[in-house]
Formats: sequence, structure tokens, C-alpha cells
Amino acid sequence: MSVTPVDPTQPYDSDNIFAKILRGEIPSTRVYEDEWAVAFEDIAPVAPIHVLVVPRGAYVSWDDFSQNAPAQEVAGYVKAIGNVARQLGLVEDGYRLINNIGPDGGQIVPHLHVHLLGGRTMGPMLT
Ligand code: IMP
Repeated sequence: MSVTPVDPTQPYDSDNIFAKILRGEIPSTRVYEDEWAVAFEDIAPVAPIHVLVVPRGAYVSWDDFSQNAPAQEVAGYVKAIGNVARQLGLVEDGYRLINNIGPDGGQIVPHLHVHLLGGRTMGPMLT
């Protein structure tokens, strides 16, 4: 995987790896899907449960999505993230959501994704 940070000024690149996963062109281990979103296991997990929740729509980042997605799509994506956590049985013990945005946020893949981490107690992470 390239470690070049996402350039938030670039338009959506439909050849990015998550676009290919959404189209089924490369394999992934899907744990959830609905009308608005797909969730699959991260290839380099940092917790016992580490899935990426991606909207089906073509959005580079949270900035792009929050500014340009129709409200119904925003709601669908947000609810899908909660649904994934519930489906994975994480509600009682809790979990962590992370969204990296652009170069300073450490975003590598230029398709909006939320990291959902669970299955262990998380430490401080605001570094
Ligand atoms: P970012 O830094 O928020 O962009 O994180 C990208 C994440 O995508 C990293 O945690 C990678 O391990 C993960 N990743 C990259 N390629 C794949 C893949 O093909 N399948 C699943 N996860 C991937």
C-alpha cells in the first residue's frame, strides 16, 4: 500500500483501493453492508476488531462528504456505522471510531472511511 498522504485538493480517484473493494474487483472480508455503506476488515488490524466502514458514494474524505453528500446519505452512513458496531456486539463494552482526514490527519486511502476498533480496552490516543 502506498503511504502517500491524501491530497484533499484532488478530485475523487475511482481507482483507489476502497473503490475497487466496493466494486468487488479486489477481495475483502465484508462484515456488513446496506444501501449506504459497506464494512470490511482492515488488512493491518490494530485491535482484535478493526473494520473500516465506507460509504458507497464516491467521497474523498469527511470534508468532501460533510459538504457535498445529500442529508439522506449522511444519515444513512452515520446509522450504518452504529449498525456495524451493534452487529459486532460492541455496544456493551464500547468501541472507538477514528476518521483520518488529509495529510495532517494521516489519511492514506482517498475514499472516506471510519475505522471501528473494538475487542480490547483502548489507551489514550490523541497523539
Ligand atoms: P487511513 O490512514 O485512515 O487512510 O487508513 C487506511 C487503512 O486502510 C489502513 O488501516 C490500512 O491497513 C487499510 N487498508 C489498506 N488497504 C486495504 C485493503 O486492501 N483491505 C483492507 N484494508 C486496507
